[in-house]
Parts: sequence; structure tokens; C-alpha cells
Amino acid sequence: MEKRYYTFSRFLKEHFGGPVRKIPLDAGFGCPNRDGTVGSGGCIFCLNPAFSPFSGRGLTVAEQVRRFKGHRRGPGRYIAYFQAYTNTYAPIAALRRVYEEALADPEVVGLAVATRPDCVPDPVLDLLQSYTDRWMVWVEYGLQSCHDATLQRINRGHDFATFAAAVARTRGRSIYIGAHVILGLPGETAADMLATAAALNATGVDGVKLHHLQVFEGTPLAAAFLRGEVKTLSLDEYVSLSCDFIEALSPQTVILRLVGDVTDDALLLAPRWGVSKAAVIDRIDRELERRGTRQGSRAGWALESAVLKTVRQHLEGRG
Ligand code: SF4
Repeated sequence: MEKRYYTFSRFLKEHFGGPVRKIPLDAGFGCPNRDGTVGSGGCIFCLNPAFSPFSGRGLTVAEQVRRFKGHRRGPGRYIAYFQAYTNTYAPIAALRRVYEEALADPEVVGLAVATRPDCVPDPVLDLLQSYTDRWMVWVEYGLQSCHDATLQRINRGHDFATFAAAVARTRGRSIYIGAHVILGLPGETAADMLATAAALNATGVDGVKLHHLQVFEGTPLAAAFLRGEVKTLSLDEYVSLSCDFIEALSPQTVILRLVGDVTDDALLLAPRWGVSKAAVIDRIDRELERRGTRQGSRAGWALESAVLKTVRQHLEGRG
């Protein structure tokens, strides 16, 4: 079935002529939203071992790259994806050392760095930009929602304006910009989630990584869920909302991921849909087919929101 949205695999094929795999890495960074610098306790949903396979295993970056590639036969191409915690939260020399440890592998053709939008001073962006003549470079900003009330509720420790400012400072540097978004956050309506798609269109990010809200064991979100204060989406709800989101998203934006994942099912409290990730994606594909819509069908959605004024202020350098 033809994909009705701009997949990351299509983007990679356009750039590299064939498949490229992402290697998820844990370089041992911390997070300013956990160590008291910005906040403590972290985002209420965060449990890094649940989505980062090498998390806490004490392997060097080079060892993680080797292990990931180890079971594959023949040559490959890879993007080194610094995934766990805040991957720009260290002195420049330390960042350079770990990034270049991964880039030293001749099969690594790209670098992707997940971080917070309040953690990218210009010297960090300069360093990332310095790699762009030889490697594809992505910086992925955790946003989750464009609504400040939601960001406060989930204890992100930054607001939407901080994200818009980071994107504005990253643009024009040959660095691809991604944003992470969660559908189903506490207190959000479907219209709120679509406003986030519209806000991303206005910032002009290159890619969006979409997740459903997952409740992991031991997190503050789990405690709220067990008290009955938070609900998670059903599979049907997620399929419908993600299709709405895709329709609202600019057709030029690459969809880096379409559904959340978990490294170990035992860590997941809810939702337990009992289907594979591939099956969820197949449901989304079939729903778009049924609707006869595709990415961008409704990309003009909610263009007059206050959030978009913030975006424009930052893009015009008035933020
Ligand atoms: S989600 Fe990211 S920013 Fe939030 S606490 Fe976890 S590592 Fe820190």
C-alpha cells in the first residue's frame, strides 16, 4: 500500500539511495530536568531504560555501535542516534569526544542528537554544524506539546517559546531539525494536539517523531495513572488522532516515527494494546486509505492560534 505520508525511510532513500538504520546510543549524559539545574524529578512520563536499549549498560559508544552492527551480515549504513537523556548536556570537549567516537565508524553516515530546546547554546550548534559537510546531522528537540499549560503539567521545565527560539537558532545551519510530540497527554483535547501540528508547520521543522502517551512503571505519571487521574488512549483513539495529526502536518515534514515503542514490555503499565508496532502502523495506513486523505490534507488547521504568534516572533528575531 502506498504510504500517504512522508516516511523517514523514503527520506533516507532520497538522500542515500537505500536503507540506513539508526543506532540508538546512550553516552551516559544526564538531564538538567533531573539534576536540579532546570528541575528535579524529570518529565512525568520519562523512563529512559524503557526506550533506550543500551541505557545503563556501561558500554562505550564504540562498543554500542559494534554490538548493534554485530548481528548483521554485509555492509550497512547507519545514523548514530544519541538518544538517552539530554545529549548536548556536557562541555563541548566531552560532546566532541563521544560524537566523534561514533562518527569514526566508516559505516556511520549520519549523526542524530536528541536534546532539550533549552540545552543548545551556540557553541553546541557550531559543533553539530561542523559535521554537516561529511555527515547528515539531525538535532531532535523534545517538545511533546505546543501548549505551555501541558508542558507545565508534565514538568518539562521549558515553555513553547524556548522551543521556537531553539528552532530559529538552528535554522540555516545545514542541520535537520526534528521535534518529538506525544499524543494523549493529560488534559489535552484533539484540537490541542492538532494545534501542535500547526505550530510545527509554522516553525518549519524538518521532521516529527510521534508517540502515544505511554505510562512506564515507577514514573510520576504511573502514580497519577494508578490514582485514576490520567487515562491513556485506546488503539482506535490513537489511530484516529494520529491520522488527524498527519493530515494537519505539512507534507514536507518527514515523519520520523509514528508510534511509541518499549524495550521491555514489563516496564509498560499502559496502554497495553496487545498488537505489534507494525500492526499499529498498518492500522494508521488503512485508516488514511479509508478516509482518502494524506499528510497535509488539512495543513492549514488552526493558523490563528496564540502559539503561532510566538513562532512568528521567534522566526522574525523578536523573541
Ligand atoms: S524526557 Fe528528556 S528532558 Fe524529560 S526528564 Fe527525560 S531525559 Fe530529561
